[in-house]
Amino acid sequence: MKPAAFEYHAPRTLEEALGLLHEHQDEAKVLAGGQSLVPAMNFRLARPAVLVDIAHVPGLDRIETNDPASVTVGARVRHLDLEHNTIAGPLGSLFAMTGRWVGHYPIRVRGTFGGSLAHADPAAEWCALASALDAELHCRSTSGSRTVGARDFFEQMAFTTCLEPDELLVGVRLPRLSDSCGVGMAEFARRWGDFAIVLAVTAVERDGDSIARARIALGGVAGGPVRASNAEAALAGRPATAGTVAEAAAAAAEEVDPTGDIHGSADYRRDLVRAMVTRALDQALA
Ligand SMILES: Cc1cc2nc3c(=O)[nH]c(=O)nc-3n(C[C@H](O)[C@H](O)[C@H](O)COP(=O)(O)OP(=O)(O)OC[C@H]3O[C@@H](n4cnc5c(N)ncnc54)[C@H](O)[C@@H]3O)c2cc1C
Repeated sequence: MKPAAFEYHAPRTLEEALGLLHEHQDEAKVLAGGQSLVPAMNFRLARPAVLVDIAHVPGLDRIETNDPASVTVGARVRHLDLEHNTIAGPLGSLFAMTGRWVGHYPIRVRGTFGGSLAHADPAAEWCALASALDAELHCRSTSGSRTVGARDFFEQMAFTTCLEPDELLVGVRLPRLSDSCGVGMAEFARRWGDFAIVLAVTAVERDGDSIARARIALGGVAGGPVRASNAEAALAGRPATAGTVAEAAAAAAEEVDPTGDIHGSADYRRDLVRAMVTRALDQALA
């Protein structure tokens, strides 16, 4: 199918893009990589009257690494650039191991980090990563700017965020992880390149043989990414052993409340949570 007719704009400045979004409000959609929006338009699931293509807006494709405490990823940075990024340390490793799971190669060439977060698919890898790291999302509109934590950005309803119709996600700030932090990512999908049925992203700070702090985010178990906070608590201050990991994975399976669908029952997803959390924690602790 082909999309319904639409007006196309390719602004050259951020101000111009924000002006168009302000002018057209609900009628307009931002076009980033087009890997979710264009199929939705072709199936007439989305019928925006106006497309604001941000391909030529300067500055949105940068990864800023000057701050020793954080990295800021521009909204238009492509999936592939994050998979093959030059970010040093565990954060770079987490981007690389997570990015390879996002769709197929051609999708990763075009699709963008900000597009994935704004689209907010409950099984999106980048949404889980942003949630695990308590990312801060920078949003702009003609009325100003605001920074929203990942917890508030995703509204726990599929494909829903707190972005207003005239707001543009411009960048995402993520904490640099310390060198004592191990990272892990595990996903179960029926075929390579499919969306996850369940995925887990982990970052675990070690203190010698103990776990100082763990971050665990899950995808595919609710309307948005979910932090497994009981599992995180089950790891804090505990020895980094297989027994501790098993207890945390059991806690994660217990605290989620997935629904069943054609891809699997709720119990099946719960079992997958246990398995994916175990794998991702083992990876982080290895
Ligand atoms: C076959 C297939 C398999 C896929 N598999 C996966 C997968 O396994 N995992 C996964 O995570 N994704 C998957 N995707 C989706 C892909 O990752 C998309 O690239 C991503 O969801 C959207 O990014 P985009 O840049 O393409 O955004 P677009 O498609 O251009 O936009 C998506 C939505 O976000 C809005 N938007 C985009 N950028 C901004 C912004 N800066 N500010 C405000 N709103 C914005 C748009 O208006 C639109 O509503 C798959 C897609 C396909 C076609």
